Amino acid sequence: MITVNNKNFIPFISAEAIQTRIDELAGQINQEYAGKQPLIVVVLNGAFIFAADLVKRLTISCEITFIRVASYSATESSGTLKQILGLNDSIEGRDLIIIEDIVDTGLTISDVCNQLNAQKPASLAIATLLFKPAALKKQLDLNYVGFEIENRFVLGYGLDYDGLGRNTPDILVLE
Ligand code: 5GP
Ligand code: MG
Ligand code: MG
Repeated sequence: MITVNNKNFIPFISAEAIQTRIDELAGQINQEYAGKQPLIVVVLNGAFIFAADLVKRLTISCEITFIRVASYSATESSGTLKQILGLNDSIEGRDLIIIEDIVDTGLTISDVCNQLNAQKPASLAIATLLFKPAALKKQLDLNYVGFEIENRFVLGYGLDYDGLGRNTPDILVLE
């Protein structure tokens, strides 16, 4: 258990289970993008560890870039319009794979996808480590999902609570 700002978080998904699942996702991506050269777009900050572990297992040729979408405070999603920061690459005609930490309401990722699609990529896929189907407010096509989880607040493995707790190898859940 770890305590962050007086909140207790208990074990939820082990480091081992995460790594096993990422192996599977990487295998799928390697197959489906064989012969292509996707541009991997990592959504900072939360996805940084997931992305690092995933791309180490990719055997295809790929480029990797990073964007930020500031939108979330404490334990509830703001639902406000998101701004993409840091995308300097031309994405027209590219095969994009967006890497997210978690899809909760889906508002963030659908906003991001709409903005990216406006720049006419050849294709756009979403890879998210975690997905909370019960919280979803937007119709979304998620191509690669690590784990579907219940609608509870999680932390660790890149995900924070008020900026803290990103640095655990496993995922914990609010007690
Ligand atoms: P959405 O727009 O899908 O509601 O929220 C997406 C963002 O909210 C995620 O990228 C993540 O930063 C944050 N978020 C949603 N649920 C959780 C959660 O359970 N734990 C943490 N740490 N962040 C979350
Ligand atoms: Mg995120
Ligand atoms: Mg956060």
